[in-house]
Amino acid sequence: MHFSDILREQGTTVSFEFFPPRSEKASGDLFRSVAELQLLKPAFVSITYGAGGSTRQLTHDLVLRVRERTKLAVVPHLTCLGHSRADIASLLDSYASAGIGTIMALRGDPIKGPSASADPGDFRFASCLVKFIQEFNEQGSHPDPRGFAVGVAGYPEGHHATPNRLREMDYLKAKVDAGASFIITQLFFDNRDFYDFRERCHLAGIRVPIIAGVMPITSLAGMRKMADLALGVRFPAPLLRAVARAGEDDECVRRVGLHWATEQCRDLLDHRVSGVHLYTLNKSTATREIYANLGVKDSTALVG
Ligand code: FAD
Repeated sequence: MHFSDILREQGTTVSFEFFPPRSEKASGDLFRSVAELQLLKPAFVSITYGAGGSTRQLTHDLVLRVRERTKLAVVPHLTCLGHSRADIASLLDSYASAGIGTIMALRGDPIKGPSASADPGDFRFASCLVKFIQEFNEQGSHPDPRGFAVGVAGYPEGHHATPNRLREMDYLKAKVDAGASFIITQLFFDNRDFYDFRERCHLAGIRVPIIAGVMPITSLAGMRKMADLALGVRFPAPLLRAVARAGEDDECVRRVGLHWATEQCRDLLDHRVSGVHLYTLNKSTATREIYANLGVKDSTALVG
């Protein structure tokens, strides 16, 4: 579905993110989660793309399976580092034929380790991928005359590789000027960082919907992993204090994390955020509990 149709249907979007599973069992678990989360009526679900294209085929196949088996609007992530123009064009062709209308265009991170390739590919930054998708759209290769809508990543606390926050905003604006029509942010735990980012985007002339990325902490190990994956993410002192009070009790840590994420979502919706994007880690329980804590059965009540 094209992002402008998603927006028209649900003014404020609530969406969920999944990653491609690597085993049959994990795939079964994911489809159970998808079936449960479908009842919450998300505006769309997005499917990540492993670093350096490591899940290229898995992501592609999962996108098509979710599209075939459900009525959900599916938004594939696509990273460009290490890819040729032909690699990307072939994925775009396949997604266009399958009726996919929206793509998240990302640079990705270089893979480290022995399997790393020295070839950087044809794209240096996500803005180059956004331009390439626009060229694809202009060739009329998509059955929808509008072509693909494109989303890009934003970083309320800054991207770790660009310490210069003024330049970073120029780079984000370049992605929007190249044709991106919405932004999904990196996860964050202090909504003030998001509101400040949203204001800075506005000052920079960025006028597209900015969707807030929220990920509940469900365990101490998960929290440490988040610190590694979302480099630079700040855990506010009140959150750390609440987690410390929970001690080694996993269930208490989970309750603290869910309470925090619920309050983040409530506050974001009260502040008329364009959308909330929940990182599910392919599980449905935490997301369903957030909806229950907010006292709603599905997204229509959340955004109404
Ligand atoms: P870019 O916007 O290209 O930025 C990359 C870096 O280059 C930044 O530091 C930026 O400031 C800098 N930069 C940009 N333009 C220029 C320029 N012209 N000159 C100099 N410097 C410049 N990763 C995956 O591998 N798979 C995924 O599915 C995935 N999904 C994500 C979803 C979201 C919502 C977010 C927030 C991130 C996701 N990532 C994913 C992580 C992302 O790929 C990394 O954070 C990556 O390092 C940056 O990607 P980007 O698209 O923001 O790149």
